[in-house]
Amino acid sequence: MPLPESPIMFANNPLDRAGHLRGNADWLAAQFADDSALFVPLWHLQPLILPELNPGDGRDVGWLPRVALGEALRPDSLSLFLGMNRRNKPLFAVDVSQLSSPEDIGPFKGMGHFEDLRSLAATGDMARTELAILAQAKAMLDWHLRHGFCAVCGAPSQMGEGGYKRICPSCGAEHFPRTDPVVIMLATHGDKCLLGRQKGWPEGMYSALAGFMEPGETIEEAVARELHEEAGIHVSAVRYYGGQPWPFPASLMIGCLADADSTQISLDDVELEDAKWVARADVQAAFNGAGGVAIPPEMAIAHQLMRAFAEGN
Ligand SMILES: [Zn+2]
Repeated sequence: MPLPESPIMFANNPLDRAGHLRGNADWLAAQFADDSALFVPLWHLQPLILPELNPGDGRDVGWLPRVALGEALRPDSLSLFLGMNRRNKPLFAVDVSQLSSPEDIGPFKGMGHFEDLRSLAATGDMARTELAILAQAKAMLDWHLRHGFCAVCGAPSQMGEGGYKRICPSCGAEHFPRTDPVVIMLATHGDKCLLGRQKGWPEGMYSALAGFMEPGETIEEAVARELHEEAGIHVSAVRYYGGQPWPFPASLMIGCLADADSTQISLDDVELEDAKWVARADVQAAFNGAGGVAIPPEMAIAHQLMRAFAEGN
């Protein structure tokens, strides 16, 4: 039985990451050389996106055969193995940031546009599974571009396992693509939930509170700490709702619902501009477009947490 489909943006990645095979350099080289291999070029971390063929069809990722990459694929290009797709074709991401204007000159001229992933996800005109793969590609590529040196001894490190790790040839240390966990939680008390807003957000928008996890704490402890630090609220129970890869640049959003013990808000005005308890009916009204608070966009896991609360969960 596969996992049930998640409503959360950037979840539902369909790839088989071939963890038992990708450590074999010969196998990996054969996948790279295979005529059925598909490559998505990323230019300054923005993937190539093809125009819509027919109105309403949605847009497609620029998955290209190796030959179509032309001179953009160099021997020293950063090429990452993402995994095998449902048709058992190997998928790779390739950094083409060395090109100066790839939409106008070179092998990708006239094919489409290199687009920011967050903006692309917000448009809603691409399949969710494809966005999940692009989130993976962006997160992995960004990590390699920023982690070229061993954190132990400072020597230049080398890619291993198709990009799933880096190895230091000097001291032998292995480094793995980092994921920074963030807890994001909706505290509830009876028929109200706690929402906050940061300075600079769109007018009237309120959302779930969030913060980075710290070393030596559990998810539940991080949720309790953040709610207390930011709003002075104590919680007695924490329930996991769902997770969201958030490759801006390397987060994993851990969505939770928390039972609050108290309702007295003590605001940390460095973190938040305002926080308030909002009635379920007002959250429901917001989802129905009937006023109340302005809710975060659908691509944010806070949207899903607030929807869960509005639906009585
Ligand atoms: Zn080292």
